[in-house]
Amino acid sequence: MKILVCVKQVPDTNEVKIDPVKGTLIREGVPSILNPDDANALEAALRIKDQDPSTQVVALTMGPPQATYMLRECLAMGADDAYLLSDRAFGGADTCATSTTIAAGIKKVPDVDVIFAGRQAIDGDTAQVGPQVAQRLGLPVVTYVQDIQMGDGKVTVQRQMEDGYERLEVQTPCLLTCVKELNEPRYMSVGAIVDAYKKEITVWDHAAVDLDPKDCGLNASPTQVFRSFTPPQKGKGEMLTGSVSEMSKSLVDTLDAKHLI
Ligand SMILES: Cc1cc2nc3c(=O)[nH]c(=O)nc-3n(C[C@H](O)[C@H](O)[C@H](O)COP(=O)(O)OP(=O)(O)OC[C@H]3O[C@@H](n4cnc5c(N)ncnc54)[C@H](O)[C@@H]3O)c2cc1C
Repeated sequence: MKILVCVKQVPDTNEVKIDPVKGTLIREGVPSILNPDDANALEAALRIKDQDPSTQVVALTMGPPQATYMLRECLAMGADDAYLLSDRAFGGADTCATSTTIAAGIKKVPDVDVIFAGRQAIDGDTAQVGPQVAQRLGLPVVTYVQDIQMGDGKVTVQRQMEDGYERLEVQTPCLLTCVKELNEPRYMSVGAIVDAYKKEITVWDHAAVDLDPKDCGLNASPTQVFRSFTPPQKGKGEMLTGSVSEMSKSLVDTLDAKHLI
């Protein structure tokens, strides 16, 4: 079985600061990391490989050349192969163009049985790319996956809901978007990091994945960014203390005093 994991290099949002004058993100000097949900997706694939060593795990990303560092991290965690879709023509892509390129890349990877993606990237935050890739490949998709049991030609998953979960069976090939509750990603060993730097990473441009430049990047991005801004900070919250009944009474009194109830 081959599992392909879509991984994205993102700025570590814990380190991102806001320019107080312009209200924009200060990205300079901010370290890049493997998107957290994607680390869970990769870990899920690696656990399946731990149980069945014939499983192959491959990581694929679309990004600038620096994304190879993140792909080496994936290799050091245990992925067998890594693919980077990188080309100036891919620049300025919205989620629509991003998923077109990723889907074109996946088509070039032979014998993929299951695709894992993160639920959402911590920078773009749209959670659109996974389902869009599935749609472009004509595959079934299950989002918010918090448990995965591989079967023969099918996968049984738990899909996280607000008040519980759904248990679904889906035939392969399919795409699953993974949430952090799935697992705790493993650490890389020093030996594995050294080995990861000896491995080849396959780099593909638009021609290698049969895409015309007019169908990728900014050229194929219908999204128009009208305005971006930092939301005004909310006032300081008030913490209630005491027993549950004291806090409930205090909350009701406060809402009553403000004529909210
Ligand atoms: C007009 C416009 C121009 C933009 N220009 C740029 C630009 O020049 N450079 C830039 O970096 N961003 C750019 N962006 C942002 C870019 O569109 C998004 O970062 C990207 O489409 C992914 O969307 P997301 O972050 O919401 O991912 P989500 O949909 O939240 O991600 C869900 C999952 O999809 C997978 N995934 C997402 N992106 C990738 C990827 N690149 N490779 C592999 N897997 C992935 C991961 O598994 C991830 O967990 C632009 C956006 C717009 C609207």
